[in-house]
Amino acid sequence: MKDLQYFNICILFIAVFSFGCNPKSKTQLITDISQITAVSKQLDANEAKSLNNCGAWENYTPSPENSLWFEEEHIRLNFHAMYDSKGDLLLPFDHMKSMWLPMLIDNAHQRFKNAPQMNLPEGNNTPVYSPMIKYVVVASDTLPEAKGYYAHIDDDLAYYINKGKDKNNYKKDVIKKYAIDDDSILNVFVMEVHPDSVASKTYKQHNAGIALGTSVKISGFYEEDPKWWEYASTFNHEVGHIFGLKHAWNKYDGCEDTPVHPNCFQRSSKPPCDGPISNNLMDYNNERRAITPCQLGIYHRTIHNIETKQRRLIVERWCTYQPNNPIIITEDTHWIGDKDLSRDIIIEDGTTMTISCRISMAESAKIIVKKGGHLILDGVRLHNDCGQKWGGIEVQQPISDCVSYRGTNSIENTITTKV
Ligand SMILES: [Zn+2]
Repeated sequence: MKDLQYFNICILFIAVFSFGCNPKSKTQLITDISQITAVSKQLDANEAKSLNNCGAWENYTPSPENSLWFEEEHIRLNFHAMYDSKGDLLLPFDHMKSMWLPMLIDNAHQRFKNAPQMNLPEGNNTPVYSPMIKYVVVASDTLPEAKGYYAHIDDDLAYYINKGKDKNNYKKDVIKKYAIDDDSILNVFVMEVHPDSVASKTYKQHNAGIALGTSVKISGFYEEDPKWWEYASTFNHEVGHIFGLKHAWNKYDGCEDTPVHPNCFQRSSKPPCDGPISNNLMDYNNERRAITPCQLGIYHRTIHNIETKQRRLIVERWCTYQPNNPIIITEDTHWIGDKDLSRDIIIEDGTTMTISCRISMAESAKIIVKKGGHLILDGVRLHNDCGQKWGGIEVQQPISDCVSYRGTNSIENTITTKV
């Protein structure tokens, strides 16, 4: 009995002593902007100008400079196969959903994965980055057994006609009638080529597509052995339009790394197509695989813009906290551009991190400023874009010694419990 009492006293002593020595006992949590009183030095004119540019594409490119926080984004899709009552101008639905459409998606992914160097301009050294984009076919809550693949028979709306008096490629009627969950899923309509077109002597099987809002219409799949790579390139091209990419052969696409050119489909012996021709995804050429840093920046900028409809097509990976995978900041860093993070940020001793623009932090995730680290809020909105509470800014020394601000900042959606 005496031994047991002695043991208990020891445990109590150890517990009290350990608590007293625990560095965590000195931590404080910032959950509101009013807790930060220290003002950082004002910026010179050049710094201030660059800070305001939250929309610059460079901030959204999956480049090595952004690799610390960059994560792959997944676009939700579903497919609708549109048949007329004869149903002989598209591949059978069973084949379509079990093999051909998954193959198309696989090929589209391969094209991203193996994106080549740009052909133009000649001698360019434009970097090649992994696009960090994937497609996922998803079921609807209302029709889960269809698993995201739907067949419709409709003699009025089954056809894709991109030439002549009955041209309907720009019409949204098929989308309005059959789209499912198009506020959160990219609906893809695979449509029949009109029988009159197929019967025409001059008709040549080809695929065509168009992006309309957050949906895509594609024609074809008539051949017995469709050329998957062509459909996949059309598909990537049209989804590129949805996420803000413009045709790249002219000067109006907002990118310096996509030069103006004559938009040749393939190389020939006649000018202007007798030299190297474009291989860019957003031109009309027989390769359509290259995608530039600027184009990727525009693509991901659309995803991180909370005002866009396109963002709602993306799987909200930033709403799932990854507690064991923090972003560790070990050198002075300034983040500009909107970000959606699923991870903690740890600012190490001797390091200053400056953050600007909008950053969504996952539920319970924290920004942790280690002793000797410094955080500058520089025109940032810190929040949680999932309707949840994030963990706030944890500091291990007096707040005024390690967190300061300049400009207008806000800290929203934090838990209110103090550490
Ligand atoms: Zn186009």
